[in-house]
Amino acid sequence: MELLVRNYNLGTIDGLMCRNLMNINWNGQIYDCDFNQQLDLQCRGESQNRLTVWDISSLDEMADVKIRTDNHCFGCTAGMGSS
Ligand code: SF4
Repeated sequence: MELLVRNYNLGTIDGLMCRNLMNINWNGQIYDCDFNQQLDLQCRGESQNRLTVWDISSLDEMADVKIRTDNHCFGCTAGMGSS
């Protein structure tokens, strides 16, 4: 973890998967990325409801949904990035 934090690279931010893509699991639950799906960090709506594809009518609605981040995100932002 220390190694990942020490190698944080601001230049990886624009290319992060969570900023440009979404992950949908088999039952329609929406995640920011496959890492978040594995950790069950599902995207949340305004009332903190767990978002599914049936809660939105357009991908534009996801633009203001906060990306769920945690310590595992340092794996994506170290060195040349990994997502
Ligand atoms: S693990 Fe974190 S930084 Fe990496 S794509 Fe997912 S939300 Fe973004």
